[in-house]
Amino acid sequence: MKTWRRITGLWGLLAVLVLVLVWALSLQAGDAGSQASPQTVQLEQREQQAKQVQREHLVILHVNDTHGHLAPHKVKGRSVGGIARAAGLVKQIRSKNPGRVLLVHAGDVFSRGDAVTNRYRGQANIDLMNRMGYDAMVLGNAEYYWGLENLRRRMAEARFAVLAGNIFELKKEGQKAVGQSFVVKKVGPLRVGLMGLSLIRPKHPASQNLRTGDNLKLAKKWLGELQPKTDLVVLLSHQGLPADTMLGGTLNGVDIIIGGHSHTVLKEPVIIKKGAKSAERKVYIVQAGEYYEYLGRIDLDFSREDDGGWKLTRVRCRVIPINERIEADSKIAEQLEEYQRKSKQVQPVAAGVSP
Ligand SMILES: [Zn+2]
Repeated sequence: MKTWRRITGLWGLLAVLVLVLVWALSLQAGDAGSQASPQTVQLEQREQQAKQVQREHLVILHVNDTHGHLAPHKVKGRSVGGIARAAGLVKQIRSKNPGRVLLVHAGDVFSRGDAVTNRYRGQANIDLMNRMGYDAMVLGNAEYYWGLENLRRRMAEARFAVLAGNIFELKKEGQKAVGQSFVVKKVGPLRVGLMGLSLIRPKHPASQNLRTGDNLKLAKKWLGELQPKTDLVVLLSHQGLPADTMLGGTLNGVDIIIGGHSHTVLKEPVIIKKGAKSAERKVYIVQAGEYYEYLGRIDLDFSREDDGGWKLTRVRCRVIPINERIEADSKIAEQLEEYQRKSKQVQPVAAGVSP
């Protein structure tokens, strides 16, 4: 009996030893496995990154035909518009999309405006636009009414691109474009080309020394230069909606047309479809009414292509009403008040000039 117990005891001990050995071996195997795992994880991460599509988001904010309406005004008894409110809204959108917002004006900043606009002949308007951080504007016909000399002064003050490469000043030594033809803005990794078609009233006294070039020919030429070095081409057009529809159908390579002059509120964009269904391209035409009553907002999504370029994958366009519900930018409001105070003190120098 004793011998038997000793034998089973030994077997028990042996079994325990075997178990311990198996456990130790498994630990070692586990260690070996965990030594290999960082490499495996790295490889997996790299594969995942390669599969992950890089995406970018861009917001373009736009207004047109503000015509010197710097303070809010009444429409059907409601307070609407106001550059300080527009600035507040822009600020809000910029804070939610840091470094990914462009702000543009599609023309007619001056004329038909309030006392501040007339007193300073557009200087206050450009100053407030500088403070708001505008990126570009195209000259509207109203910009020419106070004469080219005044306009040149305002253009020199602007800290943003002033586009009007299709309007030429006739000089003895030849003709010279009034403004820039286009500008390329870098927004994060995206390169955005902005080109502009301005407009003059040929019979207006201020237009005597001015001439309009061949808009289509010029726009095609600019597109040829812009397309190879940009991911998106935007046309700022002060031509009015019917002309914009024609331009959208004719010009190949323009993605967005931000219009003005016809004072149209486009709550939905006009979309022009081009090309065969398999390679369909769309041109989006937008416009945001008048007098800072709306801020146009375009949201654009891009994805990175294998060749390193950025492909436009989604476009959403809308207009946001500017009314008393929008908190004004206090700094812009204060600056405007300062201009309003000063313009009351001094007799208007622009009296007698009726733009
Ligand atoms: Zn106009």
